[in-house]
Amino acid sequence: MNKVHKVGIIGGGVSGVVTALELSKYGIDNVLFEQENSVVNGPPFCHLHAGGNLYPDISDEQCRILMKQSIEMARLFPQSIDERPTFISIPKTQKYSVENIQSRLDMLVDYYKSLIAEDALNEILGEPDQYYKTYSEEDLKELSGKSSVQNPSTPDQWLINAINLIDYKKLKTPIIIVQEYGWNMFRLTAQAQLALNKAENCDLKINTKVLDIKDLRDQDLDYNWEIHTEKEIYKVKYLVNSCGFKTGEIDDSLHINSERLIEFKAAYVSKWQPIEGLIPELIFHGERGTPGGMVQLTPYSGDYYQIHGMTKEITLFKDGLIHSNENEAQPKFNEDINQKLFQGWEKVDVISRTENAIHSVSHFVPSFKTATVGGPPLFGAQQIPGDDETLRVGEVSFPHESYARSEIVKASSALTVANQIIDKIQEENIVSIIENRTNKNALLDAISKDEIDELAAELTIERGYPKAMSRLIIERE
Ligand SMILES: Cc1cc2nc3c(=O)[nH]c(=O)nc-3n(C[C@H](O)[C@H](O)[C@H](O)COP(=O)(O)OP(=O)(O)OC[C@H]3O[C@@H](n4cnc5c(N)ncnc54)[C@H](O)[C@@H]3O)c2cc1C
Repeated sequence: MNKVHKVGIIGGGVSGVVTALELSKYGIDNVLFEQENSVVNGPPFCHLHAGGNLYPDISDEQCRILMKQSIEMARLFPQSIDERPTFISIPKTQKYSVENIQSRLDMLVDYYKSLIAEDALNEILGEPDQYYKTYSEEDLKELSGKSSVQNPSTPDQWLINAINLIDYKKLKTPIIIVQEYGWNMFRLTAQAQLALNKAENCDLKINTKVLDIKDLRDQDLDYNWEIHTEKEIYKVKYLVNSCGFKTGEIDDSLHINSERLIEFKAAYVSKWQPIEGLIPELIFHGERGTPGGMVQLTPYSGDYYQIHGMTKEITLFKDGLIHSNENEAQPKFNEDINQKLFQGWEKVDVISRTENAIHSVSHFVPSFKTATVGGPPLFGAQQIPGDDETLRVGEVSFPHESYARSEIVKASSALTVANQIIDKIQEENIVSIIENRTNKNALLDAISKDEIDELAAELTIERGYPKAMSRLIIERE
């Protein structure tokens, strides 16, 4: 009880752990509380949104931010990045226009070039002029039927492997191959956990739920907050709320009114027969929440595939997206969703929703109908600050002195949030000015691939998923 920590972070999701690791690398002592038995165990992620191309409706500015933040995170966690591209298509039945997506891609190529001009090491999505490639109907006719390539390396080879499986007559042309990569959550978790174990300045408290917070800012003490857990009380100068979809609970306990949405979603794990050659992630765009909502097939190692389908029968849920109200900052899910979030899924729901997901893919990839349930769903609830449900870049806010509230919408925003918090604690004189700020993190860099392979496999099995999902489809050195 006697020690005063400079920073107390509640919530060990990707935002909390990146903040803890960034503070630690500058020697700023912090205590990180996670109620579960391992970090980054909440809502999943599988896609590095380096350009926002899964969202035809978002602004160019959000696309640029997602690209920049994704590159920064990929540089921190290279062993979790699966360097396979994404196949983007629009079914003929859908309203979106390929031309709009294409003009945005041109803007992104220029932006990517400017990021590389700032720092050559930002070139992690391949050469900028190869960031995307389009394929007309003629191109598709010419390429389809060519032999699949076991380990594709060019956009044409990735396209051939995909188009040999897809009923492309259902799709508008051109079709796009873009360098948006996969992001393996199990591997990021392993690297973060190993780095936290070695971080002398971070006191990591897993299995430790924060029950209450006392605001002592007006008491002229050498600390501002007391963080109460079941066994102990911790004193901290600066408080970071990175509780994910539970961020509103802390706001409520501090009587801070704030507006947010929270959303429960799930993706499904399927197993397919071995196919000839690796395929890119497949996107068939569609209007969210309608029966033709976007279908996303994400390849994993070992013939496992993760599926999202943006309909209420697959990824989305009835009453799955809810708002805070003027009396409560924390929205509350209904019984059915709470059951899935906290108690587990009924087997019948796992089977029926995974089968719906497989069916939605087989509409475009007919041979995928032989896929079967490959594991439990990857699910969770996430936060969206404010009331705009289309927002894809959420960051951090500072509602009061000595208090930061992180509300990221995509995992890629975690480093930006950490940097903004570090700016703020300098401004508030919690720490003195740090010279030579850098995005490099020696604690993360010190973790080897072998260590990540081993812990990622352990965590994946412990969480009930096939061990193969802890590997990248394209192994990195
Ligand atoms: C189905 C689905 C698919 C997604 N796919 C992608 C994707 O492909 N790419 C992408 O970038 N993003 C994706 N996202 C979004 C991404 O998962 C989230 O943006 C990100 O995980 C949020 O991280 P966080 O650290 O803010 O919150 P969380 O990961 O929710 O972390 C909050 C942590 O706080 C802990 N906590 C809460 N209250 C307390 C307390 N009182 N005491 C102690 N601990 C507490 C929780 O246990 C949790 O571990 C997806 C989300 C979903 C639901």
